[in-house]
Amino acid sequence: MQSFVDTAAVGHFINGRIVPGEGTRVQPVYNPATGAVARTLHLGDASDVSAAVASARHAFRAWSNTPPIRRARVMLRFLELMNTHRDELAAIITAEHGKVFSDAQGEVSRGIDVIEFACGIPQLLKGDYTEQVSTGIDNWTTRQPLGVVAGITPFNFPCMVPCWMFPVAIAAGNAFVLKPSERDPSAALFMARLLKEAGLPDGIFSVVQGDKIVVDALLEHPDVKAISFVGSTPIANYIYETAARNGKRVQALGGAKNHMVVMPDADIEQAVDALVGAAYGSAGERCMAISVAVLVGDVADKVIPKLAERARALVVRNGMDADAEMGPIVTRQALERIEGCIALGVDEGATLVVDGRGLKVPGHEEGFFTGGTLFDHVTPEMRIYKEEIFGPVLACVRANDFTEAVDLINAHEFGNGVAVYTRDGNIAREFGRRIEVGMVGINVPIPVPMAWHGFGGWKRSLFGDLHVYGEEGVRFYTRQKSIMQRWPESTEKGAEFAMPTSK
Ligand code: NAD
Repeated sequence: MQSFVDTAAVGHFINGRIVPGEGTRVQPVYNPATGAVARTLHLGDASDVSAAVASARHAFRAWSNTPPIRRARVMLRFLELMNTHRDELAAIITAEHGKVFSDAQGEVSRGIDVIEFACGIPQLLKGDYTEQVSTGIDNWTTRQPLGVVAGITPFNFPCMVPCWMFPVAIAAGNAFVLKPSERDPSAALFMARLLKEAGLPDGIFSVVQGDKIVVDALLEHPDVKAISFVGSTPIANYIYETAARNGKRVQALGGAKNHMVVMPDADIEQAVDALVGAAYGSAGERCMAISVAVLVGDVADKVIPKLAERARALVVRNGMDADAEMGPIVTRQALERIEGCIALGVDEGATLVVDGRGLKVPGHEEGFFTGGTLFDHVTPEMRIYKEEIFGPVLACVRANDFTEAVDLINAHEFGNGVAVYTRDGNIAREFGRRIEVGMVGINVPIPVPMAWHGFGGWKRSLFGDLHVYGEEGVRFYTRQKSIMQRWPESTEKGAEFAMPTSK
């Protein structure tokens, strides 16, 4: 089997083949644990996008005519291959992203969930049928694929986030062009290889590597009918506006600042475990990471000493070390930005309880490591409260009561995920009803919805209306057609000039 990821150069996957492409620019891809350049990425240009879209458009005709159950069988073979190669893929993710291996395995599993969902596409594409909407007339709806659709994905889940998109799009009969993050581009190529091995026709899944140049070419290409984006809010906003201006369907998921409320009646040990895992897991580089703890009443005095102890004890290592709890940050620039935010928090007057800056991991002195950081007495005017840091930094805010906690969260510009820890059923119920956030956890710190429920935030965490995957994902990648029929035997003679009504 041709290896797509062990080589020094990372190319594109167009029309079923790995190609270096027409773009002349290259960029290093790092192993963040060692700081060393692992491979060189070919950055695509508009002609690479044109080649991928042309092959996708050509392949779409036959694929969209392939019965859904046969498309589902290709997905089933892909599912089997993903399960077989799960650990290989997880190791590729750890080597380029830095997250610990068990977390990378978890990411692959959550991606696989969506592939399993997509295997049910015949059921999901079933339409509605009404016999006799009028005498002798029937009406039904079908859902048909859009054509060539594209996905633009972030660095933090190089397998799972593409899997939120392409299995559903492809099973629904579309051809998919993926533009992965340039920081960790190899997982996409690995999955491309498995899709080909599963029997997916050439052109139905393509990967064009690159940056803004490739993104803009996709946004402007007239044959790209829909854009799915996941990344930071400023870029999500740009994608939404540009894709819409160019007449495309678009869903653009943005950044986050996820709060977790700890009520005085909560199990404090459970709440501390949840905060430590959700704030420092994957070095905080998760759109569903908890970055703000809202400590209600006297909870702060109980929780903060425990959080501090746990943050100081975090085992930060190369993600491939079996005992690592947290790996490095994805790039040196990201590390410097995160440590700059910590300095800003100190300047703004927050209390720095644990300072993770400047951490050196023995044997990995050039790696992009920082430790877990904990702030107390963070207030809503501070930039470290308002802005996404996307690193292992937990900000504690104090609230007098439940209503103050809810109002605080509802006033924030982001609305991706949120959690409450409580034993009070009424508090939990009211929280679920009143909170203006798209994904809510009741004693669940990271409430990423399962594959058939759909993922998406509110406010500036999602531009567009349909969430990714689940039934909303199927709707996003298909368009509804309504067909009405009658036959000569039930057709009256003569032209009708009045609006037809049921007879
Ligand atoms: P990013 O916005 O920098 O990049 C995302 C994608 O956009 C990449 O493919 C990148 O190449 C492309 N891109 C970057 N700058 C661009 C530009 N100027 N014009 C056009 N395209 C551009 O995000 P990132 O740093 O890779 O990922 C982290 C961000 O993603 C965080 O803000 C995180 O919250 C967010 N995220 C959100 C979700 C969600 O579901 N809401 C999930 C994962 C990550």
